[in-house]
Amino acid sequence: MADPSAEDLAKAEELKKKLESMTPEQLREFQKKNCIFCQIGSGKVNAKKVYEDEDVLGILDINPANPGHVLLMPKEHHMILPQLPDELREHIFIVAKKISNDLLKALDARGTNIIVMNGPVAGQRAQHFIAHIIPRKEGDGLSFTLPSAKMSEMEKIEIASAVGDRLHVLLGLKKEEEEKPRKKAASETPKTPPKKESKKPGKVDLDDILKVLHG
Ligand SMILES: [Zn+2]
Repeated sequence: MADPSAEDLAKAEELKKKLESMTPEQLREFQKKNCIFCQIGSGKVNAKKVYEDEDVLGILDINPANPGHVLLMPKEHHMILPQLPDELREHIFIVAKKISNDLLKALDARGTNIIVMNGPVAGQRAQHFIAHIIPRKEGDGLSFTLPSAKMSEMEKIEIASAVGDRLHVLLGLKKEEEEKPRKKAASETPKTPPKKESKKPGKVDLDDILKVLHG
């Protein structure tokens, strides 16, 4: 590849200055205009859709980790998970669960990975929030094994203090009953949507697997 010309460098510098002078709203508009996933969301760029509603879109990844790898995204431009409005975030994960179920059934997959890369340091390459849903089969060659880093007792205490009471409990540093109910305990109670039992005869095994996989 040839080195960038003086003209290219000047253009890059100009763009950098332009971006730096933008308000957060202008920057978001600029990102949106240049975002390939926004263009897919608005139908300007074609993609193989597997799911669509008013707010979200699921498409097949053109470079899949496994056949059936779905990219699920909001139609509105948001870059990372914390930027999604709560309702949209909930909706995305409800749809992710549905797509995961569909992949298990349609592709006879035995499991799925649902992955979110939050920020460039976590491996996010797109400027648009994406949940990856990857169907898995025995011996498919993919590996998502995480290394097991060691944590000193001191680190545990520091992290637990920083992250909050819930992690104290998880790490066994504090007993659940010691938590005072008035201390934000309400926010930890997840809203559980009504469960629909739609078990078909002869599909018991798969539904049992789904329960284990998706709770
Ligand atoms: Zn976008």
